[in-house]
Amino acid sequence: MISVAQALDQIFALLTPLGSESVALRHASGRVLAADATARRDQPPFDASQMDGYALRDGDLQAGAPLKIIGEAAAGHAFGGLVGPGEAVRIFTGAPVPKGADRVVMQEDTALSGGMLTVSGNADRSRHIRKQGGDFAIGDHVPKGRVLRPADLMLLASMNIPEVPVVRRPVVAILSTGDELVMPGECPAPDQIIASNAVGLATLAESVGAIARILPLARDTVKSLEACLALAEGADLVVTSGGASVGDHDLLAQAAKQLGLDQAFYKVAMRPGKPLMAGRMRGTPMIGLPGNPVSTMVCGTIFMQPALRFLGGHAAAPAPRSLASLAAPLPENGPREHYMRAMLLPDGRVRAADRQDSSLQKVLSEADALIVRPVGDLPRSIGETVEIVKI
Ligand code: AMP
Ligand code: MG
Repeated sequence: MISVAQALDQIFALLTPLGSESVALRHASGRVLAADATARRDQPPFDASQMDGYALRDGDLQAGAPLKIIGEAAAGHAFGGLVGPGEAVRIFTGAPVPKGADRVVMQEDTALSGGMLTVSGNADRSRHIRKQGGDFAIGDHVPKGRVLRPADLMLLASMNIPEVPVVRRPVVAILSTGDELVMPGECPAPDQIIASNAVGLATLAESVGAIARILPLARDTVKSLEACLALAEGADLVVTSGGASVGDHDLLAQAAKQLGLDQAFYKVAMRPGKPLMAGRMRGTPMIGLPGNPVSTMVCGTIFMQPALRFLGGHAAAPAPRSLASLAAPLPENGPREHYMRAMLLPDGRVRAADRQDSSLQKVLSEADALIVRPVGDLPRSIGETVEIVKI
């Protein structure tokens, strides 16, 4: 059996980051920039006033004599003339500083009398001018590979770049298998259960930017599995749940092999999730998850989400981990990496749920994190630090 880290590496090895598409800035949040985006203009595009006040020449500030006001400059309304000696222009924040003027004096440092402007002797000495290109200049760029955040999108808008090339969103086809399954909302027979894995996996996938396609339920026959798997055509990744164990009805591997599955691995030293498999089926990467809902979701978090992020242009990285202090002791761990469902307390400490069976969906719903227990980890006591994956 391979380790979780080895399995994840082998999954990354099956994948190639997708190509790019051009999208409007409004749809680019969280996407990965596929090429440098280069500013088409300076910002500000002219020397701009930082204040409401008066634009004038340095020489006149020293002289201190009253100045004639020859015009006005407001944002979007430049003053077209020249500010000469003995002259000033009324100016507002964001307006281009007129030719001839060296500075803007704040209106609080001036007085008007008889239509003439006097600058107070102790006026603030700064120029109150934002220099052309002081924010960014033509040729400055947002680099390829950047994960676009709202502040980046604002910058790109200001650079007058209305759309950007980003890595395409991966399409994941999700297949649930099992004779006992009916869709949520249907009337199950007494021996049937509701297929809950698909909605969990689809929303996990969407939360990392993928497009999820839920396929029809497959029955536990090779024929049905093959028919449903064929519907995954065109997807960038196929994720199945169930049918991956060694029971008489676990026929997924058989069906996938008949469809040309080139299996990279089967079985991972983890709990929950041991009967995990991955490979490539007619060129399409595939991850086969165990059917127990908690196993499905833990493996979805530990393998599917990193795989989708990688396809979408992000770095090949495992699910992010952080550290937390234990609020309750933990027993020794066995030979498989254990992802224990756990609650985060208001004080930031973490406590494992009492029941860890991989079929318990309510326990998973009440959990905030998975405590990651390394293989053979010793018993841990209150106050010790453990690694967690927030869910
Ligand atoms: P399997 O991996 O097919 O042996 O399934 C393991 C357990 O998970 C069985 O109890 C199944 O009934 C259950 N199970 C399988 N698929 C789903 C699903 N899509 N939703 C909910 N439970 C499932
Ligand atoms: Mg099954």
